[in-house]
Amino acid sequence: MIKNFFEVHHECKNSLARTGVIHLPHGDVQTPVFMPVGTKGTVKAVDKDSLEEMGFEIILANTYHMYLRPGADIVQEGGGLHGFTKWNRNFLTDSGGFQVWSLSKLRKIDPNGITFRSDIDGSKHYFTPENVVQTQTKLNSDIQMQLDVCTGYDVKRKEAEKALQITTDWANRAVAEWKKQQENGYKGVLFPIVQGNFFDDLRKESAQFVSELDTPGLAIGGLSVGEPADVFAEKLQYTVQYITRSKPRYVMGIGTPEYIFEAVADGIDMFDCVQPTRIARHGMYFTRKGMVSIKQKRYEHDFTPVDPECNCKVCRTYSRAYLRHIFREQEILSSMLASYHNLYFLNDMIHQIRDAINQDRFEEFRREFLDRFHSGEV
Ligand SMILES: [Zn+2]
Repeated sequence: MIKNFFEVHHECKNSLARTGVIHLPHGDVQTPVFMPVGTKGTVKAVDKDSLEEMGFEIILANTYHMYLRPGADIVQEGGGLHGFTKWNRNFLTDSGGFQVWSLSKLRKIDPNGITFRSDIDGSKHYFTPENVVQTQTKLNSDIQMQLDVCTGYDVKRKEAEKALQITTDWANRAVAEWKKQQENGYKGVLFPIVQGNFFDDLRKESAQFVSELDTPGLAIGGLSVGEPADVFAEKLQYTVQYITRSKPRYVMGIGTPEYIFEAVADGIDMFDCVQPTRIARHGMYFTRKGMVSIKQKRYEHDFTPVDPECNCKVCRTYSRAYLRHIFREQEILSSMLASYHNLYFLNDMIHQIRDAINQDRFEEFRREFLDRFHSGEV
């Protein structure tokens, strides 16, 4: 185990929320942390200088996409993800298991690996726990994920059991391969993934197994796959009871204020989502008083900032009327400005969350923030 990989700074007295720091090869990451998603090696419509300016310390890239195009060998030739993209802070890469499940045209799982067809050109590929670790090592990811078998919200118990059994076996194989890569000088770490679908006993079994693996952190998967918000909260709360508090815990695929507050309340340290930048491209802005859909006619003559309480360069510079205009004209700048603001908003929210945890007033802050966010006053 890596010494001092994760340090808890403060545990909130009135909830499971905590602040801490993760020491990674490309710098420290303060937690809780929201990680913007750079699917294809770029956070859509946001350049790396802007991400640095906002203070992000880690972003995501998707193994499935980078493996298909431009290919891990080209990324490696370019100096890994950092050299290739010039983002010199940390990268987390997922394993591709989720994309194979959600995007690819064919997914055939056998005990050894997954056969799938590319969603780009239909070409056939085979992922194994070992070759996915090798690919992420070529990408020089700072945190890589094990290959897992994802299942939807509505699957039968038998399918969930089988998926978990394979995921468990693949976790052991991924850890063995990661250790081999470490012996060869690879500095990044591997996180295994808790699965078990929505069955309590399976989730408990998986959480206990994953907690005991010799890895410095872990991820909670199988949630945020289309289930209602209360089911997400219930299953997350249930799962975390069986997970060690000594390691950073990552919940995949959440990025709205409500879900982030819930995850932090349950002691989650890391989360990511494409949602803040995706909705930005549809003209949706987060504000302290709720969501603004900038296309609305009511903003036509509104020369105030989209969020008067926001200190980002978009809010300090542009008006709602102008942002509405460039969105309606489908100007590229519209996606750039909205994405910048939404990421800034979430990052600022996370900073306030950390302060509230350190002052033992996380639940109070959660109520205050969400009451205003749901006030509908915008
Ligand atoms: Zn702003």
